[in-house]
Amino acid sequence: MAALQYTEHQPPEQTQLVELKPGIYWARMPLPFPPNHINVYLLEGDDGWTVIDTGMNLAEARERWLGIFDRYLGNKPVTAVVVTHMHFDHCGLSTFLTDHWRAPLWMSRSEYLAARSGRPENRAGSWQLQQHYQRAGMDEQYLQRVAEKFESFEKVHEPVPLSFERLHEGQALRFGADEWRVMMGLGHSPEHVCLYSENSSVLISGDHILPRISPNISVSAECPGADPLADYLDSLLPFAELPEDTLVLPSHGLPFQQLHLRIEQLREDHQGNLDKLLSLCQNERSLKQIIPGIFTRKLSPVEYHLAMGESLALVNRLWHLGLLQRRLDDRGVFLYKTG
Ligand SMILES: [Zn+2]
Repeated sequence: MAALQYTEHQPPEQTQLVELKPGIYWARMPLPFPPNHINVYLLEGDDGWTVIDTGMNLAEARERWLGIFDRYLGNKPVTAVVVTHMHFDHCGLSTFLTDHWRAPLWMSRSEYLAARSGRPENRAGSWQLQQHYQRAGMDEQYLQRVAEKFESFEKVHEPVPLSFERLHEGQALRFGADEWRVMMGLGHSPEHVCLYSENSSVLISGDHILPRISPNISVSAECPGADPLADYLDSLLPFAELPEDTLVLPSHGLPFQQLHLRIEQLREDHQGNLDKLLSLCQNERSLKQIIPGIFTRKLSPVEYHLAMGESLALVNRLWHLGLLQRRLDDRGVFLYKTG
């Protein structure tokens, strides 16, 4: 299979900024779990800087930002903080950064509202949540463990700022020295913002298009009948129209070229999993029985939880297409079968 072509730049360390194109800089913030980093980007303009994504709310990340401000910004302020989507590694320090600079937060409306409203897993006692995990075939302790895990994440989560400026599809905005077009990526999160600059031939892709891993496309208890994989595959289409020489700046891994090849690989990965699911469900199976058939390697508890959401996204895709039937058995568990 053809390989992606990565940037020749070494990844930035600590408070280092790496200039990828004139006025477009790359930094990294630490994460306490694999891949152990998130890429953030800074765009330099005549009057100030734009920050793209913030990192997680960790003391080490705050210090790293302050170090970057000291070393690189000169006497120009940060005038805009753009957050691609609501996941806490992306928006965890949005209040810290916007307060520090009194700069506006830019987000899409769905992402902002989702970031403000909290996660349903925090209400482990609710019948909706219990039903969701029961239908998947999970035991009661499973939900308890998930709730505890989310609680520990919640502790490091700082509320997002009280106001935001709205980004929407197709909007053209000046951030740094370039004009950037907003392109929405659906499926990984409600209304994920990507930014494309024709002038610099750069796409800031966030988690929508990643070089080595497939973005997590999951169904959660919040919307159990959702079909986010259809949203994801549809919303990849406009990205395949961008020029082949676009430099893609993802949130994890290395900047790369060959966007078209990567989109093709992502589509093939999902199609491969859908095919696997179809053959697994020749016989009736619960979601719990499906997961190890799709994810064959050993999974940590967090990975298993992500795998459950991803497996349900595959199941719902085929169910929406009419290729999979489902019925509730007498334990209240959904069983899926082709036909
Ligand atoms: Zn994400």
